[in-house]
Amino acid sequence: MIESPEEKYRRLQDEVQRAILRGYPNPHRQGCPDDAVVRDLAMNPEKIQAEDETNEKSAWNHVTHCSPCYARFLELRAAGRRGR
Ligand SMILES: [Zn+2]
Repeated sequence: MIESPEEKYRRLQDEVQRAILRGYPNPHRQGCPDDAVVRDLAMNPEKIQAEDETNEKSAWNHVTHCSPCYARFLELRAAGRRGR
């Protein structure tokens, strides 16, 4: 079966999401921002700057390196999409 570019993009995105969800267990939620911060990122993704990805002090950098925060982010983003 041949994938369309869109299917390939979605598959890669899925793999990245699964890797983050598996790769950064943080049972003690060390360094986790408030739920409101994660919610803000999920609702206003346009606020996320490219440099936040590599800035260790940014909330977005934390979310992409913390499985529970990332799971929460995906959950809120899905909920936000349904709501609009
Ligand atoms: Zn976290």
